[in-house]
Formats: sequence, structure tokens, C-alpha cells
Amino acid sequence: MQKLPESLSAVVEQLARLPGLGPKSALRAAMTFLRWPATETRRLGAAIFELREHLHLCGSCGAISDTDPCAICSDPARGRDVLCVTADWDSLLCIEDGGFYSGQYFILGGLLAPTGDRAAENMNLERLDARLAGGEIREVIMALGTTVEAENTEAFLCARLRREHPDMLLSRLAQGIPLCSEVKFMDRDTLRQSLKYRQALK
Ligand SMILES: [Zn+2]
Repeated sequence: MQKLPESLSAVVEQLARLPGLGPKSALRAAMTFLRWPATETRRLGAAIFELREHLHLCGSCGAISDTDPCAICSDPARGRDVLCVTADWDSLLCIEDGGFYSGQYFILGGLLAPTGDRAAENMNLERLDARLAGGEIREVIMALGTTVEAENTEAFLCARLRREHPDMLLSRLAQGIPLCSEVKFMDRDTLRQSLKYRQALK
């Protein structure tokens, strides 16, 4: 790529670090900013600046929020005795979007690697300990998914919770056949899980 004016290449270099953007698409995006009216480009710049100025991590659940505690953790209408543990904020947003869960959340911030050391530096375990030490939580729901990393993490967390909070009710999201699907189209692993987690008919 030919040499760009310095202020343009500074923006392109930063944009090219975004997921899904290479140098070419970063340059296209930067050129788009230049074509916008100056007020719009400035508004974008200010919005990015404000991201760092005004957003915090909620000290209770770990969500990104403009208040600490966040709106979910400080909502008096929500139940305080069930804690749903997710791997990341996106998963929390998905569950919250459904509008069917009204308990508390905790964002783990990462999962254990499938192999190797079981050190868990990427997970907010101290914050989780602090949350559970509050004594309000009676049930912890594991909502981590069914990847190898998720299963490993769940086993690790459950062992830890059983040791430190023996009376805690532990649960996980059900696994099995998705809604509106037919048995004959299921893969073997899904069928195996569905059989393992079969439910009694009421
Ligand atoms: Zn929160």
C-alpha cells in the first residue's frame, strides 16, 4: 500500500486491529469517515472517547455498564437468590434479551483451555467468591455452553463450589434436541445428550 498521510495511516492502523477488518477495509472505513460531514466524524470520535470515559465494569456481575452496580444488579424487581453464570457479556445479553430470566448474573470473563494447565487467571473467580460470600445466592445456574472448554470450566467450577458452598444448588442449562426439530435430523452427540438428560413426563 502506498504511503498514506500520517494522520490517515494512524487511523487505518488502529482500525485494521479490529476483528474482521484488514488494512484494505480499514482504509475504506477511514476514507468513509473523511467523506462524512465533519460533525458526524467528530461525533463518532467523541462516542469512542466516551466509551472509555463513562463505561465501567459492574463490580457485582462484571457487565459493561455506565453505572456500578449495573441496571440489572440494582433492579429491585429481580430475584436475588439465583445466579446465572455466563462466559461473556454477549451470552448475558442473549439470555436477557429473551426476557424469561429475572435472577442475577455473573460473567466469568473466560473459559478454561481444553488441555494443559488448569490455572484460571482469565476467570473472575475472586469476584465470584465475593458474590457468593454475600450469602444471598441459593442456586448457581451454569450457562456456559457445551464446547470442550465450557464443559471443562463447568466441571472445575462445580468442584470448587461444592467444596466451598456445599449447600448451594448447582444446575446447568438443559441439553438436547432444539425446538421444532425432528429426531431423525439430530447428530449423534445431540441425541446422546438428549437421552442422558431425558425428562420425566408429568
Ligand atoms: Zn451488574
